[in-house]
Amino acid sequence: VNINDEYQAVTNNYGSKLAIEAQRVQDGEKNAKAMIGAALQKHIDAVDPHDCEPGEEDAFFVADIGEVYRQHLRWKKNLPRVTPHYAIKCNPDPKVLQLLAALGAGFDCASKAEIEQVLKIGVDPTRIIYAQPCKTKSYLRYTAKQNVKQMTFDNTDELYKIKDLCPEAELYLRILTDDSASLCRLSQKFGASMDNTVELLTLAKELDLNIAGVAFHVGSGATDPTAFVQAIRDARTVFDQASDLGFAPHTLDVGGGFVSETFEDTAAVLRSALDDHMPSNIRIIAEPGRYYTSAAFTLACNVIARRTVVDPETGAKSYMLYMNDGVYGNFSSIMFDHQHPIPQVLRTTRRPDGFDYKHRSDSSESLVDSGYSSAEEAQDNSGRRQIEYSIWGPTCDGIDCIAEKWYSAETVDVGDWLYFEEMGAYTKCSATRFNGFTDKHETVYVSSEVGASALLGF
Ligand code: PLP
Repeated sequence: VNINDEYQAVTNNYGSKLAIEAQRVQDGEKNAKAMIGAALQKHIDAVDPHDCEPGEEDAFFVADIGEVYRQHLRWKKNLPRVTPHYAIKCNPDPKVLQLLAALGAGFDCASKAEIEQVLKIGVDPTRIIYAQPCKTKSYLRYTAKQNVKQMTFDNTDELYKIKDLCPEAELYLRILTDDSASLCRLSQKFGASMDNTVELLTLAKELDLNIAGVAFHVGSGATDPTAFVQAIRDARTVFDQASDLGFAPHTLDVGGGFVSETFEDTAAVLRSALDDHMPSNIRIIAEPGRYYTSAAFTLACNVIARRTVVDPETGAKSYMLYMNDGVYGNFSSIMFDHQHPIPQVLRTTRRPDGFDYKHRSDSSESLVDSGYSSAEEAQDNSGRRQIEYSIWGPTCDGIDCIAEKWYSAETVDVGDWLYFEEMGAYTKCSATRFNGFTDKHETVYVSSEVGASALLGF
C-alpha cells in the first residue's frame, strides 16, 4: 500500500484532507497513551516476582507502531517533496521496517547486515542508499551483486575502491556541514570540505564513475534548522561543479538530524531553502532516524535491588535503586546519544501472597501517579513528600548509572517497575551483553493508528 493512495482514499471518502488528518492524529495520540499503559500493565501483571523463571522479569519494550505511522503522515504533510529513507541504524526493529516499507519509504543502510535485513523484507534495491562514505570492500562486492547502487563517498581512496568493486554505483558526494548545534556531531568524521569537491568530482570523471547527486548530514539531533540552509547552498555549488564537469546530478540527500519537537520549524526552513536552490526536477531524499522511532518505544525495567543511604550529617535517607537494564543495555543512549531518560513508576496490580506493600504510600493506578521533580524540590505540587533516589544499571561498573538524582513522592521497592518513554532511538541497537545480561529484550507491539494496524495485520 502506498501512503499517497491511502491519503487519496481518505480525501476522496471524507472531504477535507487536513481536517481528517488532524482528527486521526488527535484520536491516535489519545489512544496511544492508554494502549501503551495497558500493554505495560498486562506484561508486568503476568510476572510473579516470587516465582518467575530467570528472564521473565527482564526489561521489555512496548512499541506503538501507530506512532511511526503518525510520524510518516506528518513527514508527508510537511515535506511532501522529500522522500524519507529511514536510517535503520537508529532502530532496526522488524515491524518498524515492515511498516515503513509498506508506506513507501526508502532505507539508509550503513553495513551489509542492514542492507540484507531490508532486502529480506522485499524492498527493491533502488529504495536503498548505502550511506556510509567509508565502506568495507567485501560489503561493496555484496552491494554490487545485490544491485544496490546508491551510495555516498567523501574521499579519493573510496572512489578507487568503488571503481574497482562497484563501477556501476550511483554516487552521492557527501559534503561537510556545520553540525555545531547537534547532539551527535558527525562532521568531524565524515564529509568532504568545499575546498575538495572539485578535486573529487574531477577524479570521478577520470574514473568514468557516475555522480548522481550530493548528500550531507547536519548532525544527529540537530537543533538549529538554519544548518540546513548553508548545507543546501553548498550542495547547490557542488551540483553546479558536477554539471560543469559533464555529470547530470539529479538527487539531493539532505540526511538525518530531524527532531520531533522542532520538526515543523525545521521542515519550514528546509522547504524554503529547497525552493530557493533546488529546481523541481531535482529529486530530494532524506535519511531520518530518531524522528521516526524515538517516541514509539517505551521501556519498562524491574527494580532488582535497593540500598538505603543515610547522610551521616543530617540523617536524611535516600535510596539507590538497581534495575535490570542499564547503560551497557538499552540505556546505551545515555553514553552514545547524550540522553537523560526520565523514570516513571509502574505499579503491578498483582497482589500475590507475601508481596510486601507495607512501605507503599499508596497503590494507585499505574501511569497516573508518577512524580518527577527538580532536585531542589522537597515537595511536589500537591505538597507530598519527595523521596530522593539514584538509579543504577545491573552491571559491576560505576558508570552504569541512569540517574544520579531522581525525586518521587512514591516509594519504590524491590520488585517494582520503572518505565521510560522516548526509548526508541539509539537504544537497543547498541545494547551489549556485558556481565552476562541479555541484549535481546522482548518487544510488545501495539498500534494506536488503524492505518498502521491494517498494513501490519494487527
Ligand atoms: N544518516 C547518516 C549517514 C547517519 O550517520 C545518521 C546517524 O548517525 C542518520 C542518517 C540518522 O540520523 P538521525 O537519527 O539524527 O535522523
